[in-house]
Amino acid sequence: MVQNYVFPATVSEAVTFLSTNRGKARIIAGGTDLMLELQDGKNTCDVLVDLTQIAELKNITEENGYIRIGASVTHAQAAKSDLILKHAPALAQACRKVGSLQIRNMGTIVGNIVTGNPAADAAVALTALETTAEVTTLEGMQTMPLEDMYAGVCLSCIDSCCQVVTHVKFPVKKKNQGSAYLRMEQRKALALPMLNVSAMVSLSGDTFEWVRLIVAPVGAGPQHAQDAEEFLKGASVSEATIVEAGKLARNQAMFRSSAIRGSKEYRMGVLPVFVERVLHAAVEDARKA
Ligand SMILES: Cc1cc2nc3c(=O)[nH]c(=O)nc-3n(C[C@H](O)[C@H](O)[C@H](O)COP(=O)(O)OP(=O)(O)OC[C@H]3O[C@@H](n4cnc5c(N)ncnc54)[C@H](O)[C@@H]3O)c2cc1C
Repeated sequence: MVQNYVFPATVSEAVTFLSTNRGKARIIAGGTDLMLELQDGKNTCDVLVDLTQIAELKNITEENGYIRIGASVTHAQAAKSDLILKHAPALAQACRKVGSLQIRNMGTIVGNIVTGNPAADAAVALTALETTAEVTTLEGMQTMPLEDMYAGVCLSCIDSCCQVVTHVKFPVKKKNQGSAYLRMEQRKALALPMLNVSAMVSLSGDTFEWVRLIVAPVGAGPQHAQDAEEFLKGASVSEATIVEAGKLARNQAMFRSSAIRGSKEYRMGVLPVFVERVLHAAVEDARKA
């Protein structure tokens, strides 16, 4: 049971708290996932280490060719950020879809990744953007590709009792690059995504130089639609190509029927349409750049 709640002022203080408590202290950011887990007994800890007072974790910055997002940045903050709107519309679109206004005001982007949910909105968009995380422990800092942070469905490789993800970062958008995000949901209410897709495209004239096309929830963490990505590399930007990519995206889409997210047959049926729409939106963004 939680007996203490601390507000470290620096990252170094946070990792020291965690280490002193040897597995019994755990990081809390917005608490939108963790508080429910503690309440349901799915998680226990004696001390909660709150990151929200650490000044260096509150900002979104452009540094050395990257957009860098601190661990306390919320979905609401990212959705309105000029830097995110300019360099990563996919992420702004994903953050706008999360939960309700209250959840977006509290929930963080980093928490959305560490929680390990395969259909987490921000995490899907960040995968398309080729995101890496900066992870700090008492021993120092290491970087980790977002795609390596999943240990299974709703399981993270991050041990939040000793590792602090301080920032995530992705490359700034270059000329002729664009991104987009779409999700299907049951109704206009608080609903988990039934299907989410995100794309980052790099164009050379009327040709796709490369495409990162991400689909979820189809496995542990956001997954690449590899056959569609391979097909689009060097292909012309045309309606026929985009339609074909939508069909190929099914090859890696291992949906499981779910009472909440819908049947696998239904989601397999609509996937090509969502892929077509997200590719069109990403191409439009790239042509604006
Ligand atoms: C009603 C409701 C609706 C929701 N709707 C959606 C939705 O539509 N889409 C969606 O994607 N999500 C949704 N969520 C989930 C949730 O809001 C997000 O996953 C949120 O982004 C988690 O961030 P947080 O700051 O609240 O994390 P917390 O709950 O504070 O933490 C989550 C986990 O990550 C760990 N952690 C947090 N920060 C760090 C860090 N910096 N380093 C290491 N470990 C860390 C914690 O220890 C904990 O295990 C919903 C949740 C609720 C309650």
